[in-house]
Amino acid sequence: MVELLAPAGTLEKLRYAFRYGADAVYLAGERFGLRAKAGNFTMDEIAEGLEIAHSQGKKLYVTVNSYLFDDEYNQLIEYLKDLRTVGPDALIVSDIGVLDVVREVMPDTEIHVSTQANTTSLRAAKVFKSLGATRVILARELSMDRIAEIAREVETEIFVHGAMCMAYSGRCILSAYLTGRSANQGDCTHTCRWKYYLVEEKRQGQYMPVEEDDRGTYIMSPGDLCLLPHLKELMDIGVHSFKIEGRMKSVHYVAAVALAYRLAIDAIQRGEEIPQLSFDLVDSVSHRPFTTGFLFGQPEETRANQYEGTRDFVAVVGSGQIEVKTMLKTGEMLEILTPEGKLVEVEWPEMYRDGEKVFEAHPNWIVTADLGVAVPEMSLVRRKVAGSAHTD
Ligand code: SF4
Repeated sequence: MVELLAPAGTLEKLRYAFRYGADAVYLAGERFGLRAKAGNFTMDEIAEGLEIAHSQGKKLYVTVNSYLFDDEYNQLIEYLKDLRTVGPDALIVSDIGVLDVVREVMPDTEIHVSTQANTTSLRAAKVFKSLGATRVILARELSMDRIAEIAREVETEIFVHGAMCMAYSGRCILSAYLTGRSANQGDCTHTCRWKYYLVEEKRQGQYMPVEEDDRGTYIMSPGDLCLLPHLKELMDIGVHSFKIEGRMKSVHYVAAVALAYRLAIDAIQRGEEIPQLSFDLVDSVSHRPFTTGFLFGQPEETRANQYEGTRDFVAVVGSGQIEVKTMLKTGEMLEILTPEGKLVEVEWPEMYRDGEKVFEAHPNWIVTADLGVAVPEMSLVRRKVAGSAHTD
């Protein structure tokens, strides 16, 4: 049974990821994980996340995928001893030294080798397996044939959706070089997405655009990976886990993308086509133009400089109340997405805040409203947008 693995930047996103169909989530603790700003979890929060996961028969993996210097290993050992007490289902590691320490300190915990380790061959995957790794998260730069070859002999996980790097799966020094913040220490500033100009040395201050098309330049800025149309082939070749990128993305993004892939996987397992709703859901959240990356060899075009999406994230339906994310008004037409994948159109009703009637509600307000239709808790209220959506 293939696993759907979603990012959890916070406990709230973890709950949504599970509610919208993920089988497992990955997150970072406060030390030694990449994505330094992705809302890293305290030890108590990891314990709470594990309780939520295990109560639903789901799994939780913790990233420990920084590359370490020798003087950091004592701190790592102390950190792993704390992690051992809460008992995550697996640790995701990149550095072979970290892998060795995990084997010593947490011998009963599964080890997944991070994509950051850039595993591109069966030979390398087998070495990791012989060193005690249970799973290898493959480099994103592999074609279907190469993935198949590895998946035959080693448990594999691949990224199926989300942002990509123009460098080999994140092994990039651009951010560290330009800003002093290292991608390999979890602090990437996405410098590849910036706009770059050409300057002739004697004409300082005159910025000449580097234009690739009428939208400008994106010489280092990749599009987003989306392997949704090819899930069946990927399931057929024996990939064990499909991973969604994006611990920094919104609740809306995590929920919609997890649901898109859940519905697709379930349909394929029933012998059916992937439903149109799956494609609509991945299109609905803010994303760069989609690409299949390296799945069919060298990508034709993976660069893009703008975001698109068909829905804005407006509010969350809680228990008896509504948590507002972006301004909404009584009378506007909105759409509610339920965790089961139902879309309900509503003309937004009267709202009350602290008992007082209001005609518009602002971000972070808690309001009550009679929607006139029963929708489950954790449903998401969305607004159709004509152009680009940036709220995710
Ligand atoms: S700067 Fe861009 S390519 Fe480099 S690690 Fe960050 S996102 Fe990836």
